[in-house]
Amino acid sequence: MGIKTTAFGYPKIGKNRELKRAIESYWKGEISREEMLKKTEEINIERIKKMIEADLDYIPSNDFSLYDFILDISTMIDAVPERFRKIQDSLDRYFAMARGTEDAVACEMTKWFDTNYHYIVPELTGDFKLVKNRPLESYRWAKEKLGIETKPVITGAFTYLILSKVYEKQEGSLLMKMVKAEESEKFKTFLLELAKVYNQILKELQHEGVKAVQFDEPALVLDISEEKVDDLLEAYSIITEGISDIQIFVHTYYESLEHFEKITNELPVTGIGLDFVSNEENLQNLKKYGFPEDKILQAGVISGRDPWKTDFKELVQLINEIKKYVDEDRIVISNSAPLFHLPVSVQSEKGHLDNRLIKLLSFADERLEEIKTIKQIVNVGLELPEQSLQLLREEFKDEKVRQAVKDVQSHEIKRPHNFKERYRKQIELLGIPRFPTTTIGSFPQTKEIRQMRAKFRRGEISEQEYENFIKEQIKYAIKLQEDLELDVLVHGEFERTDMVEFFGEKLNGFAFTKNGWVQSYGTRCVRPPIIYGDISRPAPMTLKETVYAQNLTKKPVKGMLTGPVTILNWSFYRKDIPKEEIAYQIALALREEVLDLEKAGIKVIQIDEPAFREGLPLKKRKQESYLKWAVKAFRLTNNTVKETTQIHTHMCYSEFNEIIEWIYKMDADVISIEASRSKGEIIEAFERFKYDHGIGIGIYDIHSPRIPSVEEMMEIAERTVQVINKNLIWINPDCGLKTRQWEEVIPALKNMVEVAKILRDKY
Ligand code: GLN
Ligand code: ZN
Repeated sequence: MGIKTTAFGYPKIGKNRELKRAIESYWKGEISREEMLKKTEEINIERIKKMIEADLDYIPSNDFSLYDFILDISTMIDAVPERFRKIQDSLDRYFAMARGTEDAVACEMTKWFDTNYHYIVPELTGDFKLVKNRPLESYRWAKEKLGIETKPVITGAFTYLILSKVYEKQEGSLLMKMVKAEESEKFKTFLLELAKVYNQILKELQHEGVKAVQFDEPALVLDISEEKVDDLLEAYSIITEGISDIQIFVHTYYESLEHFEKITNELPVTGIGLDFVSNEENLQNLKKYGFPEDKILQAGVISGRDPWKTDFKELVQLINEIKKYVDEDRIVISNSAPLFHLPVSVQSEKGHLDNRLIKLLSFADERLEEIKTIKQIVNVGLELPEQSLQLLREEFKDEKVRQAVKDVQSHEIKRPHNFKERYRKQIELLGIPRFPTTTIGSFPQTKEIRQMRAKFRRGEISEQEYENFIKEQIKYAIKLQEDLELDVLVHGEFERTDMVEFFGEKLNGFAFTKNGWVQSYGTRCVRPPIIYGDISRPAPMTLKETVYAQNLTKKPVKGMLTGPVTILNWSFYRKDIPKEEIAYQIALALREEVLDLEKAGIKVIQIDEPAFREGLPLKKRKQESYLKWAVKAFRLTNNTVKETTQIHTHMCYSEFNEIIEWIYKMDADVISIEASRSKGEIIEAFERFKYDHGIGIGIYDIHSPRIPSVEEMMEIAERTVQVINKNLIWINPDCGLKTRQWEEVIPALKNMVEVAKILRDKY
């Protein structure tokens, strides 16, 4: 007896991104389907072996995927949009839905909760049919191949539907449109239909002799209505009908369970999983409402989201606390959230990262070891391991930075000059026309540039050679922008691979792993920086390239920085100080850069915040405090500039209806946003709010190689002119151009400038 353990969501990418290599070579036709399937099977076997070694009581299966686990469900239940149905082969069809074909656009892809994982959005008509019982196949496979009993894990019906879109008739039209299932009237009908399919899956599993399954239901941490909770309960009574021999676990994560008392008591399942790492409410609710005596608690106490080693002393305390409310025999210890948010192993960083930092880290493999260790501590009295995490942390402390942040916290941070006044002076000083044109920062990162950088990193060319090469690129970009008659120029960001990495590498307090890849979507992985210490700027970061560019032209060159909130949201960050304080630390370092640029004569500085919105907490009640400090951090980067220095910001997307007042509070002189894919709809939010600072409308959709015509860009611009003060409108692409080719960029920008010229004549 004693506590049991499980783990779930272990990374699928392979130790050295073997999944990427196997699948991409298959797509290119370099290896056969059989070879690809064999390779990916090997990756899966390796990961399951790790879980066997971790001595788990419940070993998961069905949590491996060739592309995306939500897409796996869609194809399993035949939720295949009409446009892909003519593809007969099921694997071809699967990849086609993810990536599109010549004549069928790919399904939409979007962010999975508040993480950097992206899933393929299901498009549902309401007809569900079980065409392949994937959990059953995975279970059988593991039994035959490895001789083990497993617990199939699958995203639950409720969460799957919340994340879906459904087709709905449009009023007064024969065409169907897609709306979020969550907001559709059909939600309940669809859910109950889906429940029948899930029931069928369970029946077949029961027939096979499967002993346990896990339904992941992270959507139960969102702000869901009472009505939806009733739908949920009804659905689960269908899902579990006739199932008596399988333990059914429903795991929730990323936040605390909503409707705690009702769901823990009334959901007709064996066990409920709660995340005790990301929030405090779950523990508070456990204390307040207790836990039903007939249920098992799957206690997510080992972090699946952050890379920091578990403090066993604290963990034991937490478990003891939980034990006051749930018998030891009814506790299953697990990771809090799926482990795929973490890189595979710290092992590959040995000899690369600072040894002191290595001792603080724990990735997926190490999480499994921690789960094994805690079981031994609790069940057989293994002694707590020697840990001096706190002491180690002290070594990365910078008192000066801490003090500076304290000062910030006790003050209001705001530019003292009135916007109208300062904007007028800025435009006058810049000497730019109405409807000024600019770009978002980066120009094409050509193969040549990437090769030169690789050579430089390998030491094959000298720093001087590399710098000269970059200068040549800048020279070309400046001349080109002058020829195109753009008004505010950029240096082109040729020296940067990634907008966060570039700054992280130049700041103190950041570490970069060698092999710390995390799946972002499909075969795409990212390697987030790790913020481990107090942040400061040892030397200017962007001054050299920006000033070089400015000296080549009489037109203003815009300085380019990544904002504090974006740098933070796209990194792993420390847990020993509040997120807010880390944001201020980054902001203070960026402010030094801003002031240096200003001193060097740069009159326009853009501070990008494309990840501003994605840091928004999942629960509404927690959003305001985030927005408050996020706005403050942004303002802190530029609150001490001169009245005449113009501050821009950029966000790639435009869904900020709900947070527009906070965007306004950022107090940027100009914000550039996406406007092409949404056909200018975005502007409505600004109109409603009576937004009266500068707005750069992204009328050129850079996500496609297409060259937009003057007419189509004009159409969006005209819409804007109707509702926004024309003296505030800027014309620009909707994002940076680094993924494009010069052959596309040049004619597209030419057309874009043409639009501005027409506007100047017309209005
Ligand atoms: N300045 C960056 C660029 O142009 C902005 C990128 C982004 O918004 N994602 O590449
Ligand atoms: Zn962008």
